[in-house]
Amino acid sequence: MSSIHIIGGGLAGSEAAWQAAEAGASVTLHEMRPVRGTDAHQTDGLAELVCSNSLRSDDWENNAVGLLHEEMRRANSLILRAADAHKLPAGGALAVDRHGFSAAITAALENHPRIEIRREEIASVPEEWQSTIIATGPLTSLALAEFVRSLTNEDALSFFDAIAPIAHKESINFDIAWMQSRYDKGDGADYVNCPMNEEQYRAFIAALLAGEKTEFKEWEKSTPYFEGCLPIEVMASRGEETLRFGPMKPVGLSDPRTGYRPHAVVQLRQDNALGTLWNMVGFQTKLKHGEQTRIFRMIPGLENASFARLGGLHRNTFINSPRLLDGALRLKARPALRFAGQITGVEGYVESAAIGLLAGRFAAAEMRRENVSAPPPTTALGALLTHITGGADEKTFQPMNVNFGLFPDLAPSPRVKGKDRKKAMAHRAIADLENWLNKTREAAE
Ligand SMILES: Cc1cc2nc3c(=O)[nH]c(=O)nc-3n(C[C@H](O)[C@H](O)[C@H](O)COP(=O)(O)OP(=O)(O)OC[C@H]3O[C@@H](n4cnc5c(N)ncnc54)[C@H](O)[C@@H]3O)c2cc1C
Repeated sequence: MSSIHIIGGGLAGSEAAWQAAEAGASVTLHEMRPVRGTDAHQTDGLAELVCSNSLRSDDWENNAVGLLHEEMRRANSLILRAADAHKLPAGGALAVDRHGFSAAITAALENHPRIEIRREEIASVPEEWQSTIIATGPLTSLALAEFVRSLTNEDALSFFDAIAPIAHKESINFDIAWMQSRYDKGDGADYVNCPMNEEQYRAFIAALLAGEKTEFKEWEKSTPYFEGCLPIEVMASRGEETLRFGPMKPVGLSDPRTGYRPHAVVQLRQDNALGTLWNMVGFQTKLKHGEQTRIFRMIPGLENASFARLGGLHRNTFINSPRLLDGALRLKARPALRFAGQITGVEGYVESAAIGLLAGRFAAAEMRRENVSAPPPTTALGALLTHITGGADEKTFQPMNVNFGLFPDLAPSPRVKGKDRKKAMAHRAIADLENWLNKTREAAE
């Protein structure tokens, strides 16, 4: 049987290699470190955590990333096994000793009888490789990025520099906010609008200017801002009225409670097909995460907002997966190529490893000539996969963390709210995941 080639031994590539090899496939894992480094990695270990040492909440009944942990544990994840073995005290979070974590994964892959590790940069994928997974992450080497760009049309590979926060629709206060498109264009009610009077606007601008920002890393300082995508605090620093003539302009809108145009407006645009997630238009920011939550809750209508993702700014290479990939993570234009990890437009260590887990399983099933079966969208694994391969709007596609807004609502009682709703979704997910795992086991026998 020929080998599955996996490019990139990060979170996704390591998990993909493990899953494919455990399913009986031969794997060649190509990792360019230490032959060639990246701007963020510091070691030659596989699955190096480049920044925080936290895999976030481990509470599977109340938190979507905790649920993803639990599903991955049940699916024999190497990343979760190493995380559990090298866990540090961190309240409800799964934080790890990064060196022990990476060393355990490196050893498990090096010692696996069906895995060969080659330390080399891959600049393009030879036609004769029958099955390849590209898992080269946000800092994909420039040569390979160019290769991917050539396969996916010129502007399909995005260099991502800024993200705006995304709020859960159920947390927006519609006693204050209302639905309306500017000048009633489109369906007339495409946006959520949060109004501000002059006093609220001035206080908001002052908070933005005073808010604590994340520092640029040395190598990020040379990356210029795109003028069309400036962080809001940078816009605010150019003058008190700048935002009122930019993303917070109130023109073409009238508040149904007063019948008048507000002094300023924050707009949110639908971000997923389910209509559960709403993106704050033009609100890309480099404010620290705690500051974002505090300051954005000053916006009338968002006093109790919960955020599926907060804003941020760093180099990130990712493809437009909803447009380019099929439901089994294959490039439609060249199905022998799969993508996994952050390059598919998921965000975060766990999400990247989760997509690696699926890509490894899918590639191994294909080698065995089985039908590739995807996990149901009611599971965290399936919800994330569905989002990047079709659920998200390809025109506005931006990287995404796992969150309950990606899951289909509960039937027959969609009105269950808050913690009870999450718990019910989590229990449904685990039951559906077990079903899927059993079916895939039976298919492999
Ligand atoms: C500066 C920065 C800070 C971050 N902080 C966090 C954080 O705190 N928490 C979080 O959850 N996420 C964070 N992320 C996102 C994080 O990168 C991902 O969550 C995760 O590492 C992605 O996993 P991956 O496997 O897709 O990519 P990676 O883990 O980056 O793995 C990709 C691997 O591919 C290798 N590679 C690249 N090009 C080639 C090539 N041509 N040939 C062979 N090998 C190649 C790289 O050396 C690397 O080992 C951060 C990202 C950056 C850039």
